[in-house]
Amino acid sequence: MPTYRAPLTDYTFLIDRFLETHRYRHLPGYAELDSDTRTAILTEAAAFCEDVLLPLNQSGDLEGCRLENGQVRTPRGFPNAYSRFVRGGWPALPFDTADGGHGLPHLMSVPISEMMVSANMSFSGYVDITQAAATTIHAHGSDWQKRVFLPPLVSGRWGGTMNLTEAHAGTDLGLMRTRAEPASDGTYRVTGAKIFITGVDHDLTENIVNLVLARLPGGPPGTKGISLFIVPKFLPAEDGSLGQRNAITVIGVEHKMGVRASATCAVNYENAVGYLVGNPHDGLRAMFTMMNDTRLGVGIQGLGMSEVASQNARAYAAERLQGRAPAGPAALDLPADPIVYHPDVRRMLSVIEAFNQSARALALWTGLQFDIAHHEADAEARQAADDLLALLTPAIKAHFTDCSFENVNLALQCFGGHGYIREWGMEQFVRDCRITQIYEGTNGVQAMDLVGRKLTIAGGRLPARFFALVEQDLTVANDTAAISTLANNLRIALGMLRQLTACVQGLGQSERERIAAGSSDYLRLFGMVALGWTWLKLANIAANEPHDNAFLKQKLALAHFYLTRLVPEARMLAERAVLGDYLPGVTDFLKPTDAVQI
Ligand SMILES: Cc1cc2nc3c(=O)[nH]c(=O)nc-3n(C[C@H](O)[C@H](O)[C@H](O)COP(=O)(O)OP(=O)(O)OC[C@H]3O[C@@H](n4cnc5c(N)ncnc54)[C@H](O)[C@@H]3O)c2cc1C
Repeated sequence: MPTYRAPLTDYTFLIDRFLETHRYRHLPGYAELDSDTRTAILTEAAAFCEDVLLPLNQSGDLEGCRLENGQVRTPRGFPNAYSRFVRGGWPALPFDTADGGHGLPHLMSVPISEMMVSANMSFSGYVDITQAAATTIHAHGSDWQKRVFLPPLVSGRWGGTMNLTEAHAGTDLGLMRTRAEPASDGTYRVTGAKIFITGVDHDLTENIVNLVLARLPGGPPGTKGISLFIVPKFLPAEDGSLGQRNAITVIGVEHKMGVRASATCAVNYENAVGYLVGNPHDGLRAMFTMMNDTRLGVGIQGLGMSEVASQNARAYAAERLQGRAPAGPAALDLPADPIVYHPDVRRMLSVIEAFNQSARALALWTGLQFDIAHHEADAEARQAADDLLALLTPAIKAHFTDCSFENVNLALQCFGGHGYIREWGMEQFVRDCRITQIYEGTNGVQAMDLVGRKLTIAGGRLPARFFALVEQDLTVANDTAAISTLANNLRIALGMLRQLTACVQGLGQSERERIAAGSSDYLRLFGMVALGWTWLKLANIAANEPHDNAFLKQKLALAHFYLTRLVPEARMLAERAVLGDYLPGVTDFLKPTDAVQI
């Protein structure tokens, strides 16, 4: 059975030294988050993940969810684990105290989410989607909706879902047919068939708050005519207790490749009572709050899967004996060397680890940006953080999940044929991880969002802010001889990204086809520069450490690996992004100039 130990030392290092959170004590929750409090929270969360969630991961996958007499049942052990989770107060951690939360910074959700995914991705899905539903109602709900639905969602007593997808309407929500009719009492009657809805029914919570997109009569066609409704499984009575069962029928639990303990269902709404959230026909804007929240969450899912796969592959590589190291026998007392002595095995493990450690740093950094964007007093600082979050959301969702799927496959590869056999658990990681590239907007759609929208809105302000940050750290790195080669490699990749960005920004609406053709390569290049930037910052900390520190030495070594061995791929990606449509003249930017030497 796979094992897992939460990377607590890394979290502490990243929060203290990489983010320097002591500089943000003016933000809500940060002053209370001293090192002891933080360590206590993370250690307890780690224990819950390692001792309660991990043991249910394989059994949950084998058993799956089932529909019994109209009610979805989760695998054995899930309801009990979920009530322990709620009793421990975990769902409420990041929410405002006014809504029944504990008021912890959003930053703290990042490591907790990662740990939960590593231990049990199916279980974490119920929690993530519930928290995203609460965030959406907090942002767009009426006072009544907030009073009735927020406290039980925040505490985790009720679950939440997002209902967008229909059989004929996946990426293109403009094709959606589910409709809502106004009723005389001010509520609505929602009718339609949704598919692939995570957690629309289960036995973990006493009620489920479905956020459903539907069309009101007389609305414009396409995405402009979509409204958002709360359609709960049980209608809330006046006193907040559970009232009448709503007209929602689960048609079936989807038979899936992975995350089999997560209840993904086809569901019918048949004149179900719904409450309009926000303004008519403005539902997609409200739903974007939920989608952006979950997109960052899916990126962290990728990281969590890559981390657990890495830990198991490293343990296996240290024990599995096959052949002798090319440089000569390494373990003379053994009949063969552990496979970790083979450079190609080390290559695979290093690729995974070079992603995990920088992706974790970047994910935590976005957690900090989230808190700044919501709570910083200075409006310009809030705007800057918001811009960076908007820019990085598609990149984190898609690049993290693309890399993590490659990584779980590499980790399986380290096991040879044993990786392909169920009992080792590696094939489950591959199956579970695969969905992260698909849901919450496929990675191709994320690439279009980044290249087709985020690069050009507000006159290109978003990428300009990001590039300025990277430039700033490149300048700092100039003062440290030990990392100047690393900085140079990143400078070259950044130069290509900047020129490619300018090229995209110069293309007009009539050239959207060309922009789309190179978008996935652009996104990968962008993700690579973003991770390279975090490696440069980490290397800078490590290189300036006055004491002998094995943990930091390893960071410096991995920074070298990433920036010298992996980042050269940037040139290929830049060429591909351009050649995506064979634009005459555009390849000019690849020609060496004084500023950029390729
Ligand atoms: C396990 C699981 C859980 C899910 N949970 C939920 C949930 O809780 N709620 C919910 O509403 N949905 C959920 N989904 C649905 C999921 O979000 C959709 O499957 C996804 O958005 C893609 O839609 P689609 O499957 O219809 O694919 P399509 O939209 O048909 O896409 C097919 C291919 O075409 C590409 N494509 C389509 N349009 C474009 C475009 N404009 N530009 C570039 N490429 C494009 C896509 O990238 C993809 O490669 C879930 C799905 C699964 C499998």
